[in-house]
Amino acid sequence: MSAPIGSTVLGYPRIGPRRELKKALESYWAGTSSAEDLQAVAAEIRAGTRADLAALDSQPTGTFSFYDQVADVTALLDAVPPRFRPDGSRAGTALDEYFAMARGTASAPPMEMTKWFDTNYHYLVPEIGPDTTFRLAGRTPVDLFREAVDAGVRGRPALVGPVSYLLLAKPADGAREGFAPLSRLDDVVAVYAELLGELADAGAEWVQLDESAFVQDRTEVELEGLRRAYERLAALERRPRILTVFSYGDPAGALDVITRTGVEGVALDLVTAPGLVDRVPSTTGLRDTTLVAGVVDGRNVWRADLPRVLSRLATVLGGVGDLAVSSSCSLLHVPYDVSVEDALDDSVAARLAFAREKVAEVALLGRALTADGSDDLRHAVSAETALPRAEVDRAVRDRVREVEAADRTRSAYDVRRKAQADRLGLPDLATTTIGSFPQTPDVRRARADFAAGRLDEADYTVRMQAEIERVVRLQEDLGLDVLVHGEPERNDMVQYFADTLPGFATTRLGWVQSYGSRCVRPPILHGDVSRPQPMTVEWARYAQSLTARPMKGMLTGPVTILAWSFVRDDQPLGETADQVALALRDEIADLEAAGIGIVQVDEAALRELLPPRRSEWGAYLDWAVGSFRLATGGAADETQIHTHLCYSEFGDVIDAIDGLDADVTTIEAARSRMEILADLAEVGYSRGVGPGVYDIHSPRVPTRDEIAELIAEARRAVPDDRLWINPDCGLKTRGYAEVEPTLRAMVDAAVDARSSSGR
Ligand code: GLN
Ligand code: ZN
Repeated sequence: MSAPIGSTVLGYPRIGPRRELKKALESYWAGTSSAEDLQAVAAEIRAGTRADLAALDSQPTGTFSFYDQVADVTALLDAVPPRFRPDGSRAGTALDEYFAMARGTASAPPMEMTKWFDTNYHYLVPEIGPDTTFRLAGRTPVDLFREAVDAGVRGRPALVGPVSYLLLAKPADGAREGFAPLSRLDDVVAVYAELLGELADAGAEWVQLDESAFVQDRTEVELEGLRRAYERLAALERRPRILTVFSYGDPAGALDVITRTGVEGVALDLVTAPGLVDRVPSTTGLRDTTLVAGVVDGRNVWRADLPRVLSRLATVLGGVGDLAVSSSCSLLHVPYDVSVEDALDDSVAARLAFAREKVAEVALLGRALTADGSDDLRHAVSAETALPRAEVDRAVRDRVREVEAADRTRSAYDVRRKAQADRLGLPDLATTTIGSFPQTPDVRRARADFAAGRLDEADYTVRMQAEIERVVRLQEDLGLDVLVHGEPERNDMVQYFADTLPGFATTRLGWVQSYGSRCVRPPILHGDVSRPQPMTVEWARYAQSLTARPMKGMLTGPVTILAWSFVRDDQPLGETADQVALALRDEIADLEAAGIGIVQVDEAALRELLPPRRSEWGAYLDWAVGSFRLATGGAADETQIHTHLCYSEFGDVIDAIDGLDADVTTIEAARSRMEILADLAEVGYSRGVGPGVYDIHSPRVPTRDEIAELIAEARRAVPDDRLWINPDCGLKTRGYAEVEPTLRAMVDAAVDARSSSGR
């Protein structure tokens, strides 16, 4: 084949090794720097990326984005929702319109954001209607390809493919019921066809089109769309070779479809879907196709097992036209560089590979696969022998092994309910909050000063206690029934726990993009997890000492802790989750001993971790629900366990929510008008439920009447003695100016409701 891809990656982080893009974006948005300044930073980041990828045979171009790769296509196709063009045409520069879509304007709310497959990245959901017009509105992919050529790099323009673009879209406002964005496929493909012509003219040998939407369950019609789109693109006279990418899972039937369309290359994620390797020989369409084997994990931080990878690759060599090696997906999901992490334990660092180290792994594999690679191969093998394993904590292992079904089972709900009612004596329509209160600049500063050593532990404790006392007094004044301490000591609901639990490490610069300029620094769960000392008990005890009302202890559940960390991949996730669960179980026991009668275990991420294919949901939910029940299963009957879930579209996990067996479940509901309650009733959920009556994602202060109406609606579905009144989620991102009047209105509305009969 004349233009082999060789070693490559499918994408690269773009926020900058020191978050340069984040800073440049935020200063541009604040008006303190110019568009030219921003462009200059972006160009530097792209140059840095080319340098980082220099050891590869070929590189993707255009994986840089100012905000999001899906929004890039929206701009490229000119599929800008009309609310951003009130006068019918673009108002400012293309860049400003792009940021308007991402961030909203005074008159137009931003585009919705949602999770990119089962990763922690979020994309901007395209809004496609029957009247959306598509045209090639920009030349960014061409420009970025040329920029790479000028820098002497063999680039491969990369963008989201036309079919996935539409499958990831939602119907525009006003589209008729049942309208499918995919029905606009031909129009979108026409624009891609034009773009491919221009890329060919610019000298591109390959173009990379991401069709990862096909690792989710797809209908025949959708598969047919894939076939039609790629047959048409493949039939173009003037085009680069096409590499179609399926990351994050198994493309199942889409693999056969794509290999018969005439595209020259297919990239498969052999890390997430290792079983695909066995399908290669029988996929006849691959015999004259380039298989880009995604063998280096693009979304986790562990070094690859190179010898194992090589021997697996050897088994597919004969079945494909050409074999290239790559990351399993874009490296967008991992930090830049392990070597700058000077505070990491050597034994942990030795097991890690971030983006730069992964590039080196791919390059090495690429060389090992070529005829002259025997030396490299030997090096790879010996490097592997040196690949250290996680240290084993015998006590933790034994304890997990000895877990029995009974440990995951509490008494019957009726028994618990009675014991809790006797102990807590709460009114019907009990009021509470989800945990955090607004984080004031003062609180943030105290935490930062403590972390930096500018504030000693005693002073820090005094500052936090003062804040807790303030929040407790406020809640008493508002008349809430179940109080919280407000979480001032927590920067983040996972990191706080990771910081104290052995088995976790934190990085200094391990930032990854969550969306736009927003980055997270996930902890690394590298070893066996234990809990040598309590994590939250002193704060909870102090908070309870201030009030006669019940104080709710606040923990993050095992699934959410795993979901927002980089998790070891050397044992099943369920086993790791059980280790975390046992740590939480001990914490709950200590909270109980400290006199705490209600403990909330947040599982904000339960739905996020759902695998892309339905057939894998059962296995996932089994361990996910099991670990929650292990964490909470030791609680006494009279201890009330709450859980909180951050969303309302639960259709998919509704049985699992029931399966958690929490005494009270609080959920988001304000926006969706309580529809969820009927669904819960349908699966037989019969315990306490707190559908949010305050949309904390909006700065709006709802009126007491609006809240009263939501309460009235909820009362139609749930009896008063099981219905809780609370906001949608934690309050930490809001200000007191909004929170105080809203909570007051919420409590007043609940008290009103108590004195009126609901049904
Ligand atoms: N207890 C957490 C808080 O109130 C829950 C946040 C969440 O679910 N995202 O902040
Ligand atoms: Zn929430």
